[in-house]
Amino acid sequence: MIKIRSGVGYDIHRLVPGAGLMLGGIRIPGNLKAEAHSDGDVVIHSLIDALLGAMGGPDIGELFPDSDPAYKGIAGAELLRRVKAMLAERNFEIMNLDCVIVAEAPKIAPFKAEIAGNIAAILAIPKEDVNLKGKSKEKLDAIGRGEAIECFSIAMIRYKNPSVSVCDSDSKT
Ligand SMILES: [Zn+2]
Repeated sequence: MIKIRSGVGYDIHRLVPGAGLMLGGIRIPGNLKAEAHSDGDVVIHSLIDALLGAMGGPDIGELFPDSDPAYKGIAGAELLRRVKAMLAERNFEIMNLDCVIVAEAPKIAPFKAEIAGNIAAILAIPKEDVNLKGKSKEKLDAIGRGEAIECFSIAMIRYKNPSVSVCDSDSKT
């Protein structure tokens, strides 16, 4: 049985003066950073929620609570590796991921390929299966005033039932 499932994820972080932003595990140079208990990586955090949602699992806040000192300053990439292991344990594989990063600054376009490539590398999937888009908010609301950055993500995953994979007629128990 092959079952296809999808999940949606969202994250937002306030932007404050700092030495650069983490997006998809890549440091984007500049004079801003995300205010966060963790590394404030909106791309990875929203992707994790999309993947957990597709699995029918807990959400990122339940799995990695920000009240737990173990997750203080933790890299999004490390959390994503843990979610990758959860997918494998449950016999899921990723079909594709798509993200929309919304911010006035920094501009995402020059970093898109590097961010997508890094996410693909962390998850060990082809980089063609990771897509990113950058959008501005046309100066509207807190995002438009440059006070925050947000990201929407969707994940499509496939469940492979191991009991009906290949010629296992002698392994029925
Ligand atoms: Zn976050």
